[in-house]
Amino acid sequence: MIVLVMNSGSSSLKFQLINMDNGEVMSKGLVERIGLGGVAGFEVKAKGEKIKKDVTADNHKQAVALVVDALTKGDLAVVDDFSMIDAIGHRVVQGGDSFPKAAVVDQRVKDLVKGYGVMAPLHNYAALAGIEACEENMPGIPSVCVFDTSYHMTMDPAHYMYAIPYEDYENLKVRRYGAHGTSHKYVAREAAKALGRPIEELKIITCHLGNGASISAINGGKIVDTSMGFTPLEGLVMGTRTGDIDPAAVLYIMKHKGLSPDEMDTYVNKQSGLLGVSGLSNDFRDIEGAMDEGNERAQLAYDMFVLRAKKYIGAYYAELNGCDAIVFTAGIGENDDRVRASICADFDALGIKLDPAKNDGCREFRDVSTDDSKARVLVIPTNEEYAIASETVEAIAEAK
Ligand code: ADP
Repeated sequence: MIVLVMNSGSSSLKFQLINMDNGEVMSKGLVERIGLGGVAGFEVKAKGEKIKKDVTADNHKQAVALVVDALTKGDLAVVDDFSMIDAIGHRVVQGGDSFPKAAVVDQRVKDLVKGYGVMAPLHNYAALAGIEACEENMPGIPSVCVFDTSYHMTMDPAHYMYAIPYEDYENLKVRRYGAHGTSHKYVAREAAKALGRPIEELKIITCHLGNGASISAINGGKIVDTSMGFTPLEGLVMGTRTGDIDPAAVLYIMKHKGLSPDEMDTYVNKQSGLLGVSGLSNDFRDIEGAMDEGNERAQLAYDMFVLRAKKYIGAYYAELNGCDAIVFTAGIGENDDRVRASICADFDALGIKLDPAKNDGCREFRDVSTDDSKARVLVIPTNEEYAIASETVEAIAEAK
């Protein structure tokens, strides 16, 4: 089965065409600066080659047309016609409590994706634009929505509720939803395979540490708790997001700086986190570079990132009453041996020990813990596109 995975942002579109019979990525690329006026960027990698060019893409429909052209025509074509694509899997950030699993797109699904857009305006409306652009450019090819929130739908009310008046949960659906679900699910399954044990008997803590970052507690393959909440703002210190903050501090800042709700939204989502504390960058490599040159605020940002991650791992260790594996994944988790060592330092009380000989320089799938560590510490590269494609295949099979 050939699956086209689409990840639509407000001004970008990333795609991968995957042959699910053998896992081969046939083609991948992205369109950038969609609808911003001026030239858009288009990049395609296929057949071991890469093409980069400036194009026009005023909207997602034009961007998808470029993708279809690249897949079917010219030097990097990998299929004769779009009808050879069996299904399209769309990443959707927010599925509310309506989607415990991926869903084949129909009018009801599209209406719900649109409806939940109030909670994830940057993401859901873009996903919808991507879905509709695919319907127009590739009529007849079934589309599936794969939600970042689905995997977290096994949380029980004690974990997903906020301590607010209950009617606001009922009427406004204000509760914790989590995000990065496809990644947490994928790496948890990979961890079980690596340990050679059924996921049903494992307790796993998965740390997805990228520009956006979240940690999940997984018991028997089901999410028990996760650090992101109503939106991806809650939890860890991130590239530009505050993570956990006292709401009273938010109100205080709004009042004193005279910020509107939209301005405060930008403040907590785009101006805070590593960038806000360091005053330098949201990129972890820049933070570490500055820290190594003695920049104190970069050091502070690093220390805060590490401490928050440690807090969540400790909390989830307690919630799960132990754990078999801690998994590090995503840009920082996969590549940064120093941050893994910092997070796992002084975990002796939990019996978790990293082996520097295995951890140092590790950027690939590996167990980086000592033989006597009570929990395995695993570095597992995430593969969200493959995970989306798998869930797309499952949803199509179930719908038949
Ligand atoms: P997202 O998908 O949320 O944009 P990624 O998973 O791509 O994020 O992770 C991006 C982060 O990973 C950036 O902060 C980047 O600095 C960090 N990163 C990437 N490579 C390395 C590396 N070799 N060492 C440290 N951090 C890295």
